[in-house]
Amino acid sequence: MAIAPVLPPLTPSRSDRVELHVLDVGQGDAILVRTNRGHWILLDAGPAWRGGDAGRTTVLPYMLRRGGSLEAFVLSHPHTDHVGGAASVLNAMRPHTYWDAAFAGGSDAYIASLAAARQDGIEWHRVHPGDSIQIDGVSVSFLAPDSAWTVGLKDPNLASTIAVVRYGVVRFLLVGDAERAEEDWLLAHHRDELHAQVLKVGHHGSSTSSSDAFLAAVHPDVAVISVGAGNMYGHPSNDVLHALSRIGAEVLRTDEAGTVIVRTDGVHIEIEAKGDKWEVAHDSSKH
Ligand SMILES: [Zn+2]
Repeated sequence: MAIAPVLPPLTPSRSDRVELHVLDVGQGDAILVRTNRGHWILLDAGPAWRGGDAGRTTVLPYMLRRGGSLEAFVLSHPHTDHVGGAASVLNAMRPHTYWDAAFAGGSDAYIASLAAARQDGIEWHRVHPGDSIQIDGVSVSFLAPDSAWTVGLKDPNLASTIAVVRYGVVRFLLVGDAERAEEDWLLAHHRDELHAQVLKVGHHGSSTSSSDAFLAAVHPDVAVISVGAGNMYGHPSNDVLHALSRIGAEVLRTDEAGTVIVRTDGVHIEIEAKGDKWEVAHDSSKH
């Protein structure tokens, strides 16, 4: 017996649009790119806790409700607030590839994600600057980390995978938990590639990230902070919030707005959050 759904899907996918979904996973990151043909790329998979993880509770139901296949998983770095849900998602969705900065990390969740990839025949790739994933006209290219840079680092945050998602002329910059030292490396090596209309703000809006020089190079119209309400770290920092408003970025926080969807036809940008939709006014004088 077929039962008519009571509610329509929250976001009927429009076939001419590419979407970035910054999921509300509490304190952590889980970001989905959805192509106009319903293919997903997942960047980080949210936190894990004793007896559960955000992959199972949030990321999987979110994707399954909307349909479509997961093509690739990209890990920014092996801290549990980013890799915690990965094994659950990999086992259930079996993407073709797993992209990893491959900074030596020993968290249980990271090891479980590698075991899931091996078991499910998912191809594991170490991220190198210049590598990219191309699918349905969407490009996800990696600017960092460079293996010469990561040698000698102790903090995996500083070896975060840096990804530029491009569709048409629209660019999303996703920087994991990169802090100032990696931002400086990016400014030295890839300054001309940092500009983006949408920035996933580094390290949950921590004051150790988002230097003025870095924000000036990115100059985003929209800045999304993935952060848990009442988190014990005090993220996001007021200094970062002020710096973002000084450069004219519209700031959206997952602790206040819940999941944030950015939708683009390759030129225009629309935000969906808090049960509302609005177009982002692009300040062409800025770029
Ligand atoms: Zn983090």
